[in-house]
Amino acid sequence: YKNSAILLDRAKQVLAGGVSSEFRKYNHPHAIFYSHGKGSRIYDVDGNEYLDFTLSQGPLILGHSHPHVLKSVAEYSEEGQLYAGQHIREVELAEKLNALIPSAELMRFCLDGSEAVQTAFRVARAKTGRKKFLRFEGHYHGWLDNVAYGISAPNADALGDREQPNVFPWTAGLPDSSRDDFIVLPWNDLELVGRVLEKRHEEIAAIITEPIMCNNGCILPKEGFLSGLRELCNKYGVTLIFDEVITGFRVGLGGAQSYYGVTPDLSIFAKAMGSGYPISAIVGKREWMELVAAGKVIHAGTMNAGNPTVAAALATIEVLEQEMPYDRMHRLGRKLMQGLQRTAAEAAQDLSVQGLGPMFVTYFGVSQPLSDYRDTLGTNKAKLGRFVAGLHDAGVRVIGRGLWYISAAHTEAEINQAIEVASRVLHDMNS
Ligand code: PMP
Repeated sequence: YKNSAILLDRAKQVLAGGVSSEFRKYNHPHAIFYSHGKGSRIYDVDGNEYLDFTLSQGPLILGHSHPHVLKSVAEYSEEGQLYAGQHIREVELAEKLNALIPSAELMRFCLDGSEAVQTAFRVARAKTGRKKFLRFEGHYHGWLDNVAYGISAPNADALGDREQPNVFPWTAGLPDSSRDDFIVLPWNDLELVGRVLEKRHEEIAAIITEPIMCNNGCILPKEGFLSGLRELCNKYGVTLIFDEVITGFRVGLGGAQSYYGVTPDLSIFAKAMGSGYPISAIVGKREWMELVAAGKVIHAGTMNAGNPTVAAALATIEVLEQEMPYDRMHRLGRKLMQGLQRTAAEAAQDLSVQGLGPMFVTYFGVSQPLSDYRDTLGTNKAKLGRFVAGLHDAGVRVIGRGLWYISAAHTEAEINQAIEVASRVLHDMNS
């Protein structure tokens, strides 16, 4: 890693922190710099090749540098850089999303997930005239002040009966006041949500949730949880927001809302939607999104829906519609999950896997399935760190918290290769 070491020295002079938080957080022994990616592979500046299951934190649903995406971005860019104004491609993209996503009657485009989440909050407040939001422990909704607070923040007073440790280091430097906007509850506990809404619904503008909790573990909603939230929101006039930044275009074309058959009022799409180009969308039912049209909610942004990024999203969706890789991604992902579980048993390692095929998590030290954020606190993070670092050094990249993303570019042979590499790493961890 000689060239990476040299780059790290240079980076420390000019980049705050010098290196991505991924390496700092999980104590990987090396800070690796990458030079390029192609399909399911990524290459570092010392010439090492990796089978990539990070997909740049998720967006690269088609793999790195998909030719149709690159070609469309180049072609549409030649039409001029049409930002901050209407253009034909924006309408085309909106029509596509409208046809694919159950809750998408009207929409607006933004640059990233964090911004679209903030827009959803404004819309929900304007619609309900209420101020607070109910959110869930361990869910991530972007890095901006108000939501960064509460990723696991204590909210002992939701019903006056819970004491919770604040174990997540995301809150450094944030103003205390932002905490007041949120009631934070454990995920997957419908009965508790019902009790809180019964008591406090007149304060609550919206419930925001990832339909699958992907940022701490990869925790599926319990049977009836999402539809239960839907019913409670209907009953109490609360807006239901699905944060589909990860699940959108990953579990299926219409997102998790299609997969689970539960339609929220508002939802956020980002990451995979644009194959890594900066585009996101807040989509929602007409009654909510009309407030933006009526000027009751301010939404603006110089760079929003520029035609190069719209081109990336249109091209991504075109390929997904043509190839329909979802059955394959679900199947390959499941095969990888089963292979990891089998090989871990052979190596006498207490590794568990959880999630859906297109994204899943590996963890150590807890044998029962994780069902909320607190369950993840008991997992063996040190061991996971050793596993992830070992995989990396053997040429397989996964996200530091044990999250694996499958792309349409991954092949059956690569899944087998990943299982073989993992087997070696798991056996080596015994020595
Ligand atoms: N919501 C979820 C569920 C996310 O996973 C993320 C990013 N990891 C965000 C919101 C924020 O999106 P962005 O990083 O594009 O601002």
